[in-house]
Amino acid sequence: MNRYLTLTVSGYEEVVRCNNEQVDFSAWIAVHNTNRGPALGGCRVWNYSTVDDAVTDVLRLSKGMTYKNSLARLPLGGGKCAVRANLKKVDRVALFESVGEFVETLEGRYITAEDVNSTLDDMVHVQRSTTHVATVGASGNPSPFTAYGVYCAIKAGLRHICGSSTLAGLRVAIQGVGETGGRLARLLDSEGCILMAADLNPANLYELSKEVDIQVIDPAAIHRCRCDIFSPCALGGTLNYRTIPELQCLMVAGSANNQLLDPLDGHLLDRLGIVYIPDYAANAGGIINISCELDGSYDEALARKRIARIGETVKEILDRSTTSNRPTSVVADLMAEELFKLKVAA
Ligand code: NAD
Repeated sequence: MNRYLTLTVSGYEEVVRCNNEQVDFSAWIAVHNTNRGPALGGCRVWNYSTVDDAVTDVLRLSKGMTYKNSLARLPLGGGKCAVRANLKKVDRVALFESVGEFVETLEGRYITAEDVNSTLDDMVHVQRSTTHVATVGASGNPSPFTAYGVYCAIKAGLRHICGSSTLAGLRVAIQGVGETGGRLARLLDSEGCILMAADLNPANLYELSKEVDIQVIDPAAIHRCRCDIFSPCALGGTLNYRTIPELQCLMVAGSANNQLLDPLDGHLLDRLGIVYIPDYAANAGGIINISCELDGSYDEALARKRIARIGETVKEILDRSTTSNRPTSVVADLMAEELFKLKVAA
């Protein structure tokens, strides 16, 4: 049986803990801000070593979702669910049905979705206990849409740098060619880019190389490649005080979340004259696509049209960065804050 406890956390609208001794898990839902609409964010499952680790994660991630959803101008707020469980031991069906019951207690103020270690199948079990779940409808796998959004962001960045969004002949170094990086590589290849790619998983490089001409690079060296665009599409934190001075590119744009290890790294990129497309602006295509299924009438063409507007957002960030002489990372945060701090009239 789920047992609930409401926690008070400054800066967050609602944080609730759920314990279930029978199924053997704890979970937290954090609703950071709902000024633009109900909070949408995935359900992350992790075998967190401590309760503090889980709480820190859910707070950080839910806040990040407010910024991402706002900057994408979605009628959605930011929230997240973090589940502390050992997936090797737990009854997976019982776990996700219980998570669904937990989500239902928020009565729609939080909408969940698949995330790290939770799948579309898991969301079907969540759906047995609540209707407040996305990614079980027609929108499907978000990755192709995330990759398309990054592609639109890259084009907008290019237009800003050189007045043209032509990709042919440009050199792009992609860090991580999984679900999103691999798809981005295919899009860029179709427009004539010269691609360099690194991945810790050789199978992903092999699969990609069957379709696309790539130069395979050591993962430790991919950020050092001489190129026009460096595209981080693996894990977070790969842009930091150690790697940024080694970059040899004009622009950074990729799908990975939390690319900057520290907020000051945005200033460092700016000082070096490297155009940084803020990660949560570039990688919003997946969440925009998911949002298109929430009213029950999903249309892929319309979703792509909305995702393409990422290019307009990127243009605004770059223009404001130029006129205000502030790093793009700072400008994106300010723009998101402008968009979520005022409550949107219903
Ligand atoms: P994925 O696991 O399919 O692909 C990531 C790839 O990066 C893997 O092939 C992995 O082997 C590789 N990798 C890991 N560390 C590496 C390193 N140090 N050097 C080189 N390669 C490395 O994941 P994904 O769905 O493509 O997501 C990639 C990033 O994009 C993540 O940060 C994710 O949070 C973010 N993101 C994804 C989506 C989406 O729709 N999938 C949406 C928004 C953000």
